[in-house]
Parts: sequence; structure tokens; C-alpha cells
Amino acid sequence: MQIVHYYRVACAKGFRQLVVTARNTNPLVRTMASSSISEKFAPAARLEGIDKNVWVEFVSLVSKYQPVNLGQGFPDFAPPDYIVEALKEASGKPLIHQYTRSQGHPRLVKALANMFSKVYNRDIDGMSEIITTIGSYNALFYSFQSFVHPGDEVVVIEPFFDCYSPMTKMAGGVLKPVPLRPKNGATSSADWVLDPAELEAAFSPKTKLFIINTPNNPLGKIFTRSELEMMAEMCHKYNVLCISDEVYEWLIYDDNVFTKIATLPGMWDRTITIGSAGKTFSMTGWKTGWAVGPAGLIKHMQTVNANSCFTAPTILQEAIAVGIEHETAVLGQDGSYFKELPRMLQVKRDEVYKALKEVGMNPIIPQGGYFMLANTSNLGLTFDNNDEAYDFQVCKWMIANKGLGAIPPSAFYSSKNAHLITNYIRFNFAKSDETVKAALQILQDWAKEIH
Ligand code: PMP
Ligand code: GLN
Repeated sequence: MQIVHYYRVACAKGFRQLVVTARNTNPLVRTMASSSISEKFAPAARLEGIDKNVWVEFVSLVSKYQPVNLGQGFPDFAPPDYIVEALKEASGKPLIHQYTRSQGHPRLVKALANMFSKVYNRDIDGMSEIITTIGSYNALFYSFQSFVHPGDEVVVIEPFFDCYSPMTKMAGGVLKPVPLRPKNGATSSADWVLDPAELEAAFSPKTKLFIINTPNNPLGKIFTRSELEMMAEMCHKYNVLCISDEVYEWLIYDDNVFTKIATLPGMWDRTITIGSAGKTFSMTGWKTGWAVGPAGLIKHMQTVNANSCFTAPTILQEAIAVGIEHETAVLGQDGSYFKELPRMLQVKRDEVYKALKEVGMNPIIPQGGYFMLANTSNLGLTFDNNDEAYDFQVCKWMIANKGLGAIPPSAFYSSKNAHLITNYIRFNFAKSDETVKAALQILQDWAKEIH
């Protein structure tokens, strides 16, 4: 039997126009071969339009141009010694190299429950009210998969961490974005506010989920208690589930106050709060996260987990448990990592702010988190390409021509509202002294060229 397969991949995305021809005496093989299999190998509808990913694109540009990278949100300094030591120590225990409890490694969920019981001022049961996941990305994914039915609406505040949009789509939901609007002359993330009428207009009987991120990526906004109360009122009025992404919860600057929406009256029962060990301990590559909420909601996320990843890595959870135990013992005290990290980052935030301002970029000072938005409209940069958002072009130009990496924030908006942010770019200031110094040098040289 002789079969000749001839593959013609006509489309860059892969198999859409894959054609198979065959010379064969077997009629069954001949029928299969002569039919186009392009339909079969096309991606599922849930993937349509979500193949472009800002992180994938910019990681590749960074690898090509090797800029001083204030782009993707990861620190380039070491995590606390006690975590690295805990990892080494854990590696000596044979069973730590095996699977652990699916819902979360017992030592970690107990440590998190102890710590969050203090923070929330309620008794949290680690075995039923917490799930650990592979990064907070997975906790987010599980939330969408657990609760969004096809056609359900998901209200989100813009700017939002980019994956909320494809995750809504993959669950069959419909995104209803509500942008924060800068007040005239806004200089701080606190000046970006919600219009209560615009927020309420996004809610309807179809709304299933409301998702917030505080402190916000990329703006750095921390929602005030009264803003959270307004959102909570919407959740009650429309009987909606709230997802609160709080991966930057310890990174609070100046005298800002961080409030968890789950601690507002009546909100525990309808809120899932998401956290990240990667952000908490400056080790994003550990990809371990968690969700905290009522047992009746967490159990559905566990169903998704048991049938997809099953567990997050045991050894990492063990070492993170040691870190959480350590921090719980010194919670709120000077010298604790949760106090020292924001103290250190605030200095870097202020240095980067000043240098950006000197170039004429007019940054928005963030109240929390890792990131700062800066306005590039005074730079006088123009591009011929009308097919790509201006902020993407500015970031690409800056990486290639100034050797400085940043991220285009229109990736954090729906296509409908992306135009609201294309004059800005996002800088990550959670970087080593050396990286910040190199970035400041680039910005200072740039400022001299301009003035
Ligand atoms: N939420 C926000 C707001 C983020 O910025 C990120 C990126 N770190 C994540 C979730 C995902 O974090 P992780 O690395 O824990 O998956
Ligand atoms: N959360 C990080 C950021 O906003 C990076 C996420 C990623 O690289 N996928 O930069």
C-alpha cells in the first residue's frame, strides 16, 4: 500500500487549509484522504480572536532587543532568603516530591487560613474555604469556568488585567466593561474614578459575575471603601458574584488604605478573593496562587481543579507555607517582608516617576501595585502604521530605539474602549537597583536630547 500525503499549509495559523491527497487502493482511506480536514483541525470557537497575547509578544521582543526591561511584571531581585531555604529543606523530604491534597497542600491552606483569619477578622477554614492553584491565573480561570454559563454577562472595570477578557470568552460569557475616567488634571491613580450611573448601566439580570482588581494592574488604583460599597450595592441589587483579584494586596504606598471587598457587610457570601505567592514573595516563576471564599463557592472551583490540574506543585506549596507562617508571626510589624517590600518599591516608584516626568511623560502616580502609567503624547512620536494601536507602536519603538521596555496598556481594555488609553504606556518599577539605575540613565539622556 502506498500513500502519499501532500500537506499544504496555506495559512500562517496552521492547519486551516491542510489538504491531504492520496493514491490508494483502499476506498476507506481514499475517502478520508480526499476530504478536506481543515474544519476538523480549526480551533474551537471559544479560541476565536484571542490568539494575540501581549505577554507572548513582548517577551519575544525583549529577547530580541535585550532592553532595560521595565515591561512585564516580575521583579528581578531575589525572594526572601527564608523561602529559598524552606525550598531547600523541603527537598529532603521524600513525599514532598509527590502529589499532595488536590484542594491545596494541607500545610499551606492552614497557613493561609491562619493569616487571612487575622486579615479578614473572621475564622477562615483552610480545608474548605481556600483552594490553591497553579498561579493566580488558574484561580481566575477556575472562577470563570465554575460560574459563567454561555451568555452570562461579566462586568469588569477598565483597565483590567488582560486575561479576564479571554477567560470570559472561553467560558462563553459576554464582557461588559466600565472604564475608570480620569478627572481633569489627574496626577494620581486615585483621580481615576467610576461614574456610578455608568457602572449601574452595565449591570442587568444577565450579570453573573463582577470582577475587580485592587490594587489595579496597570493603573495602581486602590479602591476606597466608599467605591467598594458602591460596587457591593450593585452586587446585592443584581444578585451577582464578585471576584476580587488582590494579587498586589501588600503593595500599598503612602498613607493609602487597602480594603477587601469581601469584608464589607454581606459580601463574604458572594465573593471569591484571589491571591498570588508569586507577587507576595517576589517569585513569579513559582506560579502558585489561591482563592479564598465561602465553601459553597470554592467547592465548584475544586471540581474544575480536580478535573484539570489536580494539584499545584507540592514542594512549592510547602516552601510557601513556611513563608506565610513566617509573615503571619510578624504581620504588620516593621521588618516583615510585607512591610519592607512596599517600602523599598515606593522609593523606586518615586525615582522612576521623577525621571519620566523629566522626559515629559506625565506619569500617573500609583497608590499600590507594581506599575505606573505614563502619558507619551508630549513626545511627538508619529508612526505611519494605522493598523496597530499607538501605545503598541510607542512601546515597540522604545524597545528598539531607546533600549527601554514597557507594556502597552490598551491590552488592558476592551477593543471598544482601547482608544481611551493609547496615549499611555506602562512601566514596572519592581526592579533591582541596578535595573532602575540603568532605566533612569536612559530616561535622563532622553530628557537631555529633548530639552
Ligand atoms: N492578576 C493580576 C492583576 C496580575 O497582574 C497577574 C500577573 N501576575 C495575575 C493575576 C497572575 O499572577 P500569577 O503569576 O500568580 O498567575
Ligand atoms: N501580570 C504580569 C504583568 O502584568 C505578567 C503576566 C504575564 O506575563 N503573563 O506584567
